[in-house]
Amino acid sequence: MKIAVIGTGYVGLVSGTCFAETGNTVTCVDIDHVKIDRLTHGEITIYEPGLEKMFLKNLRDGRLKFTTDLKKGIEGAQIVFLALPTPPGEDGSADLKYVLGVADKLGQILEDYKVIVDKSTVPVGTADKVKDAIAKHSKVEFDVVSNPEFLREGVAVEDFMKPDRVVIGSSSDRAKKVMGDLYAPFVRQGNPVIYMDEKSAELTKYAANSFLATKISFMNEIAQLCERLGADVDMVRRGIGSDDRIGKRFLFPGIGYGGSCFPKDVQALIKSSEEVKYDFQILKSVEKVNENQKTHLIPKIQSHFNYDLKGKHFALWGLAFKPNTDDIREAPALYIIESLIKLGATISAYDPEAMNNVKGQLGDIIQYAINPYEALKGADALIIATEWSEFRTPDFDQIEGQLKNKVIFDGRNLYSKEVFKNSNLIYYSIGR
Ligand code: NAD
Repeated sequence: MKIAVIGTGYVGLVSGTCFAETGNTVTCVDIDHVKIDRLTHGEITIYEPGLEKMFLKNLRDGRLKFTTDLKKGIEGAQIVFLALPTPPGEDGSADLKYVLGVADKLGQILEDYKVIVDKSTVPVGTADKVKDAIAKHSKVEFDVVSNPEFLREGVAVEDFMKPDRVVIGSSSDRAKKVMGDLYAPFVRQGNPVIYMDEKSAELTKYAANSFLATKISFMNEIAQLCERLGADVDMVRRGIGSDDRIGKRFLFPGIGYGGSCFPKDVQALIKSSEEVKYDFQILKSVEKVNENQKTHLIPKIQSHFNYDLKGKHFALWGLAFKPNTDDIREAPALYIIESLIKLGATISAYDPEAMNNVKGQLGDIIQYAINPYEALKGADALIIATEWSEFRTPDFDQIEGQLKNKVIFDGRNLYSKEVFKNSNLIYYSIGR
């Protein structure tokens, strides 16, 4: 099939590459000229395990193309995916200006039947708005489908190639058939393609992310209780996770959820609820708990240093919002940096993939180390904000040797408490 993907970011580039991998010819469109130029010349623009190899192969084989020209990009395509940003607007609701802006343009250039697919996370009713925006200009036949994306950054290629499920929201049999054919190679192992109406598909995505965010905030509150009651959240997690109804996954406490999805999607669903006069009380609490959790380590650090962080220097391991990505959107590490700098401290940070993005956003207000141990030089303490694998079994003797004050503040519970039993290192973690 011939496919166009509009928006070549984390979702667009992964989807486009994976669709090319299954034999389709894909043109990815973006308004960012620099990005398109780099991609055209074989330079990958995001870090995502397994993506670069697949991207280069499909680029070389001519199945993957890039352009800034929307009209050229959709020429001959049967399916046009919208993988555009839907950031929170001022009031927290999803800002649809990118999605509806492109829909408006599509209406002006559509020449033959196409299936237009909302892959962006969009509020209930957006498929109708996209339909209206196109139909305003066009007499050409088309269908709009809601096909929310469930990939996780860090394992995006794996998730896309073998999705747990594919959700297709459409009221058109013709569009359903096209979408079913496109996804057939991805669900050969029998994972379901679930067909539903557009509105249910749109809500499914928000419900999924909000439920996962709820699980995280719930465990973070249990961790708070553990700290006050002298219980160990690791034990409680294992105790409850073995119940099938609860499940083992997504029960790890930490310094809050971040990223480009959970914070904005929780906010957007609260806003959508308000618009239909429903007070979504659980979600409001989920958001509030997360706000507090992002800086949960700060009072611990302050208390350890007698509430005087002026002139203190910290090593910070991890900047990305989670491991195996260079994405720093809403990363808890950024909130820790902001708080510590306000309190007069300085920071030397290390992250395997996200340092360039942080440099781009924060510049030189912190130092950037070339490896985790360099970050420790002259530091009063080590703070861990992202659970990269390479931080899991470090050389504790080196950590102890380098740190001025022998203390670790671990926001991701990377180490067993036993490790520190016969050590001079003082270890703070979450809920233990
Ligand atoms: P992103 O910011 O990484 O990428 C969006 C791209 O769209 C950018 O490259 C931007 O330049 C481009 N763009 C903006 N306006 C454009 C226009 N008029 N024409 C062409 N391109 C344009 O965003 P993302 O993380 O890929 O997210 C896209 C959507 O997918 C969002 O709705 C998000 O909520 C959803 N989503 C994201 C993830 C994720 O893990 N990142 C997972 C599932 C769903």
